[in-house]
Amino acid sequence: MTITALFPGSFDPFTKGHEYIVERALQLFDNVCIAVGTNVSKKGLLSVENRIRLIKDIYASNPRVRVVSYGSLTGQFALEQGASVIVRGIRNSIDFNFEHDIEATNRILFPSITTVFLATPSEYAHLSSSVVRELLAFGRDVSEFLPGNIDIAKYL
Ligand code: ADP
Repeated sequence: MTITALFPGSFDPFTKGHEYIVERALQLFDNVCIAVGTNVSKKGLLSVENRIRLIKDIYASNPRVRVVSYGSLTGQFALEQGASVIVRGIRNSIDFNFEHDIEATNRILFPSITTVFLATPSEYAHLSSSVVRELLAFGRDVSEFLPGNIDIAKYL
């Protein structure tokens, strides 16, 4: 049986913390579908198209990773993508409490889907897309927070 995990998020932008979660998920599941949400109320920095382009550039040579956008309920979208698992990264107890409520709701609405929480290591526990956006707004170099050779200027 092939297991596909959906990793949903805003990814504005995709960081080393996100990359770590994808790496771990690839150790557990056959495929990872990274789903960039389009209907989030958060004000974005990168356009959804550029968020997707950035993530696709990272995983261009990995056939086990797909990158898509979505604007529906995450659980519904997981079913449509053939994903039986939703993966979320947990940095701290605030993340856990927030995600736990969503997990409980999804378990009722989409009983066939299992949500898996993956803990982040301490070096990424303080890393968030919003911190990266803040630094960018002040013209700082953010490359140490982004995967590999990503030049964020290409996606702004
Ligand atoms: P959302 O708006 O859905 O929280 P994000 O792009 O901020 O979207 O995060 C997507 C997922 O990645 C969430 O599960 C979040 O907890 C996780 N995540 C974000 N930053 C990190 C990090 N530094 N380490 C591990 N997981 C992270």
